[in-house]
Amino acid sequence: MSATDHLVDANQQYVERFSGARPARPRLQLAVLTCMDARLDLFGALGLDIGDAHLLRNAGGIPTDDALRSLAISQRALGTREIVVIHHSECGMDGFDDGEFRAKLEQESGVAPSWRVPGFTDLYADAKQSIRTVRNCPWLPFRDDVRGFVFDVASGALTEVTAD
Ligand code: ZN
Repeated sequence: MSATDHLVDANQQYVERFSGARPARPRLQLAVLTCMDARLDLFGALGLDIGDAHLLRNAGGIPTDDALRSLAISQRALGTREIVVIHHSECGMDGFDDGEFRAKLEQESGVAPSWRVPGFTDLYADAKQSIRTVRNCPWLPFRDDVRGFVFDVASGALTEVTAD
């Protein structure tokens, strides 16, 4: 059984107890940007329910152009007002070499990727930089409530990071 088959089976049971559609606008007017890491249970760790928040995830939880695009849509079209950025311990992007990765992709495929994959060497410094990037994004009308945290995958605890 593939992982996808597992999902399809699970969905049949999900449908039986599904309570119906909820409003598309996030109830808490919140967007969370974080890493795709499989150990981050955002609903459990943050006390969220379905329909509460937009959850944007990428490798590292980094405010890339695409993440900022989604945040702009989140605020302008769907009413969110607060943004939380969460990095985490043991992240695969810690020490990631973007130049080497992209060179390898180009070497193997013959096509250079148009995107960058920024990694970092200091988790807390990068979290601060991510907060600043979001706060400085000119396309976001609501930037007063942008807070950042580091999630510890060993303890489940969040630690707030304050950008300078
Ligand atoms: Zn990560």
